[in-house]
Parts: sequence; structure tokens; C-alpha cells
Amino acid sequence: MSRRIIVIGGGAAGLMAAITAAERGAQVTLLEPNERLGKKVNITGKGRCNVTNDCGMEELLRNVPRNGRFLYSAFSRFDGRDCKAYFEGLGVPMKTERGNRVFPVSDCSFDVTDALRRRLKAVGARWEQDRALSIESDGEKVTAVTGEKRSYAADAVILATGGVSYPGTGSTGDGYRMAAELGHTIVEPKASLVPLVSDDEDCAEMQGLSLKNVEIKVKNGKNKVVFQEFGEMLFTHFGLSGPLILSASAHIRDWEKDSYRVCIDLKPALDEQKLETRLLRDFAERSNQDFSNVLGGLVNKSMIPVMIRRTGIPAETKANSITREQRRRLMQELKNFEVKLTGTRPVAEAIVTSGGVKVGEIAPATMESKKVAGLYFAGEVIDVDAYTGGFNLQIAWATGKAAGEAAAEEGEQE
Ligand SMILES: Cc1cc2nc3c(=O)[nH]c(=O)nc-3n(C[C@H](O)[C@H](O)[C@H](O)COP(=O)(O)OP(=O)(O)OC[C@H]3O[C@@H](n4cnc5c(N)ncnc54)[C@H](O)[C@@H]3O)c2cc1C
Repeated sequence: MSRRIIVIGGGAAGLMAAITAAERGAQVTLLEPNERLGKKVNITGKGRCNVTNDCGMEELLRNVPRNGRFLYSAFSRFDGRDCKAYFEGLGVPMKTERGNRVFPVSDCSFDVTDALRRRLKAVGARWEQDRALSIESDGEKVTAVTGEKRSYAADAVILATGGVSYPGTGSTGDGYRMAAELGHTIVEPKASLVPLVSDDEDCAEMQGLSLKNVEIKVKNGKNKVVFQEFGEMLFTHFGLSGPLILSASAHIRDWEKDSYRVCIDLKPALDEQKLETRLLRDFAERSNQDFSNVLGGLVNKSMIPVMIRRTGIPAETKANSITREQRRRLMQELKNFEVKLTGTRPVAEAIVTSGGVKVGEIAPATMESKKVAGLYFAGEVIDVDAYTGGFNLQIAWATGKAAGEAAAEEGEQE
């Protein structure tokens, strides 16, 4: 009789694991309580789904700041290029954009999940719209999964329940509890790729203001730059958000022991000398105008009161009477607008969860538990997380594939 594999979770990792195991002849049942498979995948990349990154293993590993080496084996068998080819093989043409980010040509994430759903059906895997409550074992190996609707006998179980981010998509942390009940250690789940919080009232005052083409540096308490990039960011009522900020958050790892601040270069295209020339020109052209009017040509309207406060230059100062020292202070704010950070938004609002099942308790080549035979892990439930660029989905696909292969192959040897 073919091996009975129960896959818990119909997200990216679970779908890949279920398809892979069924392709290898296993009798696969996928448990997913949502009305749709791949609910989170459908909202990825703002609905466009940044499926993977078009690169090889080394580059993938460089983009996984947490426990990257654990993924060496899975990535060496299924890297970003393999992933792109895989989806094209499923009939979803792919394109590569800036930073090697891979998207479906259609810019529609549903094309990705629809292709997976079709493949799942074609290879004979069964989907039960049920929620797993616990994984049963006889003390050595898994025997069954108890669901809300019924019990499922199992020779192997692949746990792919995701993290605790965006719980509305189904990832509510059930997997952590089920893994812990079987003796696994759960590294505390934390937010990554998440908006950042500041108690600087300037942020709230400028809420809604989006800055395009700025450069930010994130510096720690020792003045070391931990992140630096060009892009787009946003002021909000709680602090900072937008693509640059989400990326930066993955590099801020030690909130307990360190302090962090974001330094925004509002004029990255101008070095200090060019900026000074520009200011002198602006001041000369508008010599009889108030400082507040001159600022209107330099920064967004909602930044003007903040700039006046920060530079200490009275709003009604005429441009022709701005002193060298005042000009220096303005340049400082334009090139280095500082916002002190106090923390992150909650993990539920994070793009990914950092933390999860401890990697030391999982065999990296097979994703099998070192504690319970026949139990496998895949995706975000594992204590790995990556930067933006398609790397988090790549982790889900590659670990799902590794777990699906191993769970099915073990059966073939019996
Ligand atoms: C807004 C947003 C945008 C993102 N954009 C990108 C992107 O463009 N590129 C990228 O690489 N990554 C992106 N990510 C991250 C990526 O979506 C995740 O890392 C990835 O989906 C993780 O896959 P997973 O299968 O491990 O978990 P999930 O996709 O979260 O799937 C877990 C599944 O398990 C199910 N489940 C949970 N508990 C149970 C249970 N008890 N029984 C049965 N089923 C259960 C859930 O319902 C869910 O469907 C984004 C995330 C978010 C929130």
C-alpha cells in the first residue's frame, strides 16, 4: 500500500510538499481550513506575487539572515532558477524585474495558486477543508492527525502551518503548538519585514507623506550602519512604513540590547557641495521671500513646519538674511533627517515571522524532525526568515519540496 502522508496547511510550503509527495506515488491528504488554497500567496507582492528571486544558491543564502545555512541542502536542490522554471513548467510564464525579483507575466498571484491547485488535483492529492488540532504519535513515530472534522491515519505528517503574521490568512500559530506538544522547541516568534515605531511626534504630524527616491541609513547605538538603501518610504501615525522601512526592519535584530535610528537623505542625488550651490541659488532667486516659502521648493508641504522647528530658523526669515550657520543646519536636516526608533509594529502586521521550530531539531536534507520519526516541517513554521525579494516564498517552495520528497521516498524503501 502506498504511504499515507498528511500535509497540514495549504499555503506555499504545504502545496509544494503535497504536490511533490503525490508525484512520487504517496497517498496525500492536504488539510487546509480556508475556503481557498494559498490565501496568503494570493496577497503577496501586492497581489502580483514575487514568486522567487532569479539567482543561485549562494545569493539565496546571502538573503536569509536567520539560519541561512540550514537551507543549504534544500536550496542546492531547488534554487531560484529552478523555481522559476518549475512555475513556467506549470504553465505560468514568468518575468524577472529589478533586483532579480520574479513575477508572473500576468502580474496576477491567482495564476500561481490556480496552477498549484490544478497540479495538486492532477497528481491525485486530496484536499480536506479541515483544521488540524493535534498530531498523534506512538512515542517514536507519527500515527495520525486529529482534525476538527475527523481523524486521519498517517505514515508521515508534513507540518506547513506558516507563522503568526497576517493571521486573517490562516496562519495563527497552530503549528507551533502542535510541534511543541511533540517535544519541539519554539524560538520566540517575532516580527520581521514590519513597519517601525517611533515616538518622534514629527512622524505623526507628517502621516500620509510618502517620500520617493530617498536614501535611508539605519544606524545602531554605536553609529554603525546596519542598513542602507534607496527607495520609497512613508510617515504614519505610529512612525515609519513603506518598502524601504520593511526591508530595513529585517536588519534590525537586537531591540533589547541596542538602540536604532533612521537617517533619511532627502536629496540623495546631490552631494553636500551641490546641495549648497542649489540652496544659494534658491536663496538668491527668492531673496525677499520668507524661509517657509523657500522651503516649499525644497520639501513637501507637510514637511515645512517640521523643518522650521528642526532647523530653528524662524518661518518669516527672509531668504537673503539666512546665515551660513542656518544654511548648514538646513543642509544637515535635508541630508540627515533623523528619526529615533522605539520598536516594531506587532508580529500580526509583519510580512514574515522570525522564529519558530528550532532548526537544530530538524534534519536539513529531509526536513524531518530529529525528535519524532515521520514528522516533517516546511515553510515559515521553521525558524528561518529572509529579506524581501521573493526569498521568503523561495524558502517555502524549497523546504516544501525537500519535505515532500523525503516523506514519500522514505516510504519507497519500506
Ligand atoms: C502581505 C504579504 C506580502 C508578501 N509578499 C511576499 C512576496 O511577494 N514574496 C515573498 O517571497 N514572500 C512574501 N510574503 C511572505 C510569504 O507569503 C510567506 O513567507 C509564505 O506564504 C510562507 O508560506 P507557508 O506555506 O510557510 O505559510 P502560509 O502561506 O502562511 O500558509 C500556511 C497555511 O497553513 C494553514 N493552517 C494554519 N493552521 C492550520 C491548521 N491547524 N490546520 C490546517 N491548516 C492550517 C493556513 O490556513 C495557511 O493557509 C508576503 C507576506 C505577506 C503577509
